[in-house]
Amino acid sequence: MTASTTFVIDRYLERAVRHESGCLLYGPTPTTYGHTQLNGDWIALHRLALESRLARKLGLRHPLPIPPGRMALHRPSCVARSCIEPEHIRSGTAKDNAQDAITAGNANRGERNGHAKLTEVDVRAIRAAPRTPATRRELAEAFHVDVAHIRSIQSRRFWRWLDPDEAAA
Ligand SMILES: [Zn+2]
Repeated sequence: MTASTTFVIDRYLERAVRHESGCLLYGPTPTTYGHTQLNGDWIALHRLALESRLARKLGLRHPLPIPPGRMALHRPSCVARSCIEPEHIRSGTAKDNAQDAITAGNANRGERNGHAKLTEVDVRAIRAAPRTPATRRELAEAFHVDVAHIRSIQSRRFWRWLDPDEAAA
């Protein structure tokens, strides 16, 4: 019975944490893609989540690889790259990916501009990350805020009250 087929991704889905946004987060940090080994190869968990969802839909026993030239893409509304919610991931081209980034950027100018959307865990992850321009850009993208916002969190202009004893950091 195909409905009872279990996939490797299932044990990650069980351990993942449901974010208030609906995202299902699993990974070393919110900004990192989680990976697992499958038949000797490393595969990103969000990709595996998509391939497993497709397989399940079709009644297959093994994840269905997405075609070459396509990638596993998060929804622009996903709060972090560590989201492995299968319903949040679709296959698309690099061009789709770029379009998603623009969509996310536009949304960011509207209601999703606030630090209210970030959690304490997010803020700690942002502060723990290397303070380089490249990493700040990555963080901004992952959390759908702008780079200035990331800098303000790291300098403690925002979220000053969180972990105040590290204020000199
Ligand atoms: Zn998500």
